[in-house]
Parts: sequence; structure tokens; C-alpha cells
Amino acid sequence: MTLISSVQTHILDHKLETAFESASTSFNRRQHLLVEIECECGTVGWGECLGPALINAAIIDQMRGRLIGKNPLDTEVVWLDLYHTYRDQGQRGVTVTAISGIDVALWDIKGKLLSQPISILLGGRFRESVPAYATGAFRREGVDRISDVVAEVLRYKNEGFHAIKLKIGFNADEDLELIRQVRDAVGPDMRVMIDANHGYDVTEAVAIGRAASCYNIDWFEEPVLPELLDPYHDVRSRQPIPVAGGETWHARWAMKAAIEARAVDIIQPDVCGVGGFSEFKRVVDHAQMNGVRVVPHVWGTGVQIAASLQAIAAIPFSPYRREPLEPIFEFDRTENPFRQAVLKKPLEHQRGTMKIPDSPGLGIEICRESLEHFKYKP
Ligand SMILES: [Mg+2]
Repeated sequence: MTLISSVQTHILDHKLETAFESASTSFNRRQHLLVEIECECGTVGWGECLGPALINAAIIDQMRGRLIGKNPLDTEVVWLDLYHTYRDQGQRGVTVTAISGIDVALWDIKGKLLSQPISILLGGRFRESVPAYATGAFRREGVDRISDVVAEVLRYKNEGFHAIKLKIGFNADEDLELIRQVRDAVGPDMRVMIDANHGYDVTEAVAIGRAASCYNIDWFEEPVLPELLDPYHDVRSRQPIPVAGGETWHARWAMKAAIEARAVDIIQPDVCGVGGFSEFKRVVDHAQMNGVRVVPHVWGTGVQIAASLQAIAAIPFSPYRREPLEPIFEFDRTENPFRQAVLKKPLEHQRGTMKIPDSPGLGIEICRESLEHFKYKP
């Protein structure tokens, strides 16, 4: 039996050439945290944490002592030990995103030690590839928002994407005009999703949903504040577009509350935020038992992309039928030079489709030169 011998964090940082913003956040840097766990036998596993890199790193520094000397195959034992240790003040948020990065790294180790891709260890691969949608269309400084976003989504269409997601939640009238012009530009065959990043109140969200439904929108993501489950349900019941959410709900209990409040049609657990593979699987099971569709949230580096692809491979058909519904992979297309640079072999789409790696663990190799190049310098 090999035991965990070291836990390291790598904060990656890049100052953006052009700042951009969602309805709730401004981005002028990209910062993401990778987790590296090594075992006595030399096997190394990689994970990533959704959310603020420096805070995740500080929490993992605190957790390190509980990991050294543990069996890396004991993923449930480690998960519960970490969660229980910080439960009283850490049931959601960055405590859980920190555990997520650790859990993903332990599953990478498990896959490498057992010579299997993580998807096999989760129960098997329902698919070898997955369609991807382009996430972008943020508001950028110093340009006309609508013409800038229309040009951007046309680039995605030319790249081969068949689905895109628009950022709204800024100003209801302008947002609606953006949706109209994008649908006009991309034509009827492109799947279009909208994401308000909880920028509206219920009245605005209902009005936008009713007005935008004629543009054939796949889902309406985070229409209102994530704490407001009853208002989420109001938005669902009072306008026709399916409601999605989940990137800010962490661990099984937050997901359970949203699922059981009938807050969403589509739940979006992030494998690097919800609690890693261990928790992701529980959330998928609970969602499917309650008739809620699962489409993961993805926002990070190639490690997060690889983890999400393994998780997606193992999402069961629901319902099981001859031509099953398939999940779709969220592919962030905004500026992030280390997204693919952290990998020796990039995980790119081909005409809007992602192949799911089938080598052991996450199925990736890390480029250490890139970690050094993009290392955060305080
Ligand atoms: Mg979102």
C-alpha cells in the first residue's frame, strides 16, 4: 500500500489583455489553482479547485496535515474527514471547492494505480465523446457590446461549434436585443443558451424568459440569486425556458435543497467545485432520481477540462432509450493562455465535439514548464 507523501498547490496567474465582465463579476486576471498530490511510490495526481485560487490554496495548506500518510485510494474516507473537520464553518463555498481539488487529485492517483480512466472507476463510459458549447460572449470594456458579441459567436460558429452561451443579466432591454441579434446572426440551427449570472430579480427574469422564448433558447442559467430557491421555482413556473443552475451550490446538501425545491430543470454541478468526483456522482444520482437533467459547469484549466470529461463520460442515460439525451460540455473560449498550456497534449474540440481521454486517471500529462511560466508572483 502506498501512502500520500506530499500535497502541493500551484497558483496560476495571467493578466488579461482585455478585461471582461459577467453580470456579477469583473475579470482582469485569470487565476486558477492546481493541486498536486504525490504518493510514496512516486505516483502523482492532479486536481483543480473552482473559485478564488489564493483562498483555495490557503485552505489546502490547512488541510495538508490531514492528508499526509493517508491511503490515496480511501477517497470517501478522506472526503468525509476533511468535510467533517471544517463542517461547522465550511458547509459550502471555498471549503468545498478546496476539497474538490483534493478529491480530483486522489481519483487521478486511483486511476493511475489501477491503470484505468476515472470514468471506468465511476461505473463506466456511457459515451466516448461529447458535443461542446462555446462559453464566452461576456461584456468587454471599450467596445459596442452587441456587435462585439455577435462577431464573437460567429467566430465560434466558424470554428465548428453548434452551441453557444450568451452572458446576460446586465440590462434587460439590451440583453433581449443581444439575444435577438445573435439568433439572427447564427441562424436557426445553432443551440443558444443564456446565462444571467444571477443578475435579475424574479420580475425581470420572468419578463426576459417570456420575451426570449421565441428565439429558441435551450436553457436560462442562474436567472436569480442562488440563495433564493423559491424565487428560482417562480421563474421556472412563470416563463417557458428551462431553468439551469448549480455552479454556486456546493456539496450534496446544497444540491439536494435545489433539486427538492424543484428550482431547476437542469442542474450544473462543477466537478472541481461540488466536491470532486466522489460528490459529483452522488449529485448525478440524486438529480436523476428526481427527474432533473445534469449538465456540468466547467470553468478552468486543462485539468478541469479533463476532470469534467471523465465525469461526463460516466453520467448515465436518463431516460434510457434508443436515442438517449446526451450531456453537453461547457468549453470556455475566453482569454486564458494557460488553459491548454498546462497540458503536454491539449484537449481541444473538433468541429464542436470533444473526445474523452481513455488513458489512466484523468488521462493527461502536466507541462511543468507552464506551471513555472504562469506561476503567481505576489
Ligand atoms: Mg454560469
